[in-house]
Amino acid sequence: MEIKSVVFRKSIRGTNDILYEEKPQIAFVGRSNVGKSSLMNCLLNRKDLVKSGKFPGKTREINFFLVNEKYYFVDLPGYGYANLPLDVREQLVKMIQWYFFEKVFKRKAVLVLDIKVGPNEMDIEMFRILRDQREEVIIVANKADTLNQKERSEQLKMIAEKMPGAEIIPCSAKTKLGRDTILKKIFELE
Ligand code: GDP
Repeated sequence: MEIKSVVFRKSIRGTNDILYEEKPQIAFVGRSNVGKSSLMNCLLNRKDLVKSGKFPGKTREINFFLVNEKYYFVDLPGYGYANLPLDVREQLVKMIQWYFFEKVFKRKAVLVLDIKVGPNEMDIEMFRILRDQREEVIIVANKADTLNQKERSEQLKMIAEKMPGAEIIPCSAKTKLGRDTILKKIFELE
């Protein structure tokens, strides 16, 4: 599947008509710094369309990008920022939870991890939320370029034990490893 067009459509913080349009939503979620924005830019073949969570202001809203005039790539706020006050961090998790509680046309969740770090308690909690909502989940283990083959397979095994039943795809936003596999999975939604 080729990316033919990408257009930024909207940032939302609460309910909005865009949620209920008849377009499949691919929702990207992950702890801050796992490379979620880098991954989205890699998938979309754009350099910096999706802004890194490191930029203030971009972190607290849900951003919708229209892809191939057919799908929404949805960039959710990163969670687990060490340098944000606790109440703000809690608000962000609530916003993510709210989004996944909304009934939409079709949705697939892409939960992004750092393959080297693996899932922590917050990631496992996010996985539980998605599973309880019966979301289709793809786990993307990013930054695979930081590990050798043996380390990669060890980490993938560990992630699978902590997040059973989900498909886990190793990838690197830096080298584009895994890009085609992820896109293929995403567009199975048609
Ligand atoms: P976000 O907070 O999850 O959106 O993460 P960013 O996309 O801003 O990336 C966080 C840091 O990880 C940046 O310094 C990126 O350059 C780096 N990074 C992202 N993806 C990769 C990757 O695949 N490999 C490596 N080695 N670094 C990456």
